[in-house]
Amino acid sequence: MSAKIIDGKAFAARIRGRVTEHVANLKAGHGITPGLAVVLVGEDPASQVYVRSKGRHTVEAGMNSYEHRLPADTSEAELLALLDRLNADPAVHGILVQLPLPDHMNESSVINAIRPEKDVDGFHILNVGRLATGQKAMVPCTPLGCLMMLRDLHGELSGREAVVIGRSNIVGKPMAQLLLGDSCTVTIAHSRTRDLPAVVRRADIVVAAVGRPQMVRGEWIRPGATVIDVGINRIPAPERGSGKTRLVGDVDFEGVAGVAGAITPVPGGVGPMTIACLLANTLTACCRIHGLAEPEGLTV
Ligand code: NDP
Repeated sequence: MSAKIIDGKAFAARIRGRVTEHVANLKAGHGITPGLAVVLVGEDPASQVYVRSKGRHTVEAGMNSYEHRLPADTSEAELLALLDRLNADPAVHGILVQLPLPDHMNESSVINAIRPEKDVDGFHILNVGRLATGQKAMVPCTPLGCLMMLRDLHGELSGREAVVIGRSNIVGKPMAQLLLGDSCTVTIAHSRTRDLPAVVRRADIVVAAVGRPQMVRGEWIRPGATVIDVGINRIPAPERGSGKTRLVGDVDFEGVAGVAGAITPVPGGVGPMTIACLLANTLTACCRIHGLAEPEGLTV
């Protein structure tokens, strides 16, 4: 194995530490405590785990956490009424609606009902447009975390060939926008891309956000390239006992680590950065809403 392993867990801890420090300064200097409201509709077990973890990290960073758990049969009108209240609440600086929503709700209508300044997921159409046009935006947490790791590793990204595999609105597209914003030459690959291995082989930076376990192979990677694995996939792990599973990314870690210059592991790579960036976004939103200086390096 030759690649440097990018320790997302340690990096995320550093980001959370900086957020905690800034939050303490905000409290001491201005009497302001950033607040994050997380709204969960229904009882999806994975979503419940995410929401619990977000609440815990928010409190650990010294911020206020407000959890709103609504039953699965909540009407869209009731959810929109709650968002109206949170939009108007001065104690709430960030609002996150945990996705997916139940089928009877229109995801876009709900997300676009969040006040853009409080949209800490960066999914509101105004934030999408701001990011795409190079204006100050709330930036989606997962791609923001990936960019932070790349900047930390390389410093300047300008001129590098980047290939993003996946074109979802929450990861692939904003990731490509961020890399373009840092003057990379960006290719977005997807399920219709012809000869994906050849496209990936061009890249100095590969970001895999596909949702297919271990799809990206060592033979696809240019020697020395940096590989960011966003994927989180659970696969059977009979070697750990019957019925056991384990998490893997979209990248064949063993194969790729032998060729790449640097790689994020799964777990312990992008995942912890996502939550750290949610806290960073809440702090950024709070500073912007109050017209205070934003902490450096916690957003783009
Ligand atoms: P989506 O399912 O929304 O998008 C997947 C993308 O991959 C699509 O654009 C799709 O192309 C493309 N794709 C699918 N199959 C292939 C293929 N064979 N070759 C090339 N491209 C392909 O997923 P998300 O973007 O939401 O998530 C991607 C992964 O990242 C998942 O594993 C998810 O769990 C993980 N994730 C991790 C996070 C973290 O915090 N670490 C946060 C968010 C997601 P097309 O558009 O043509 O269908």
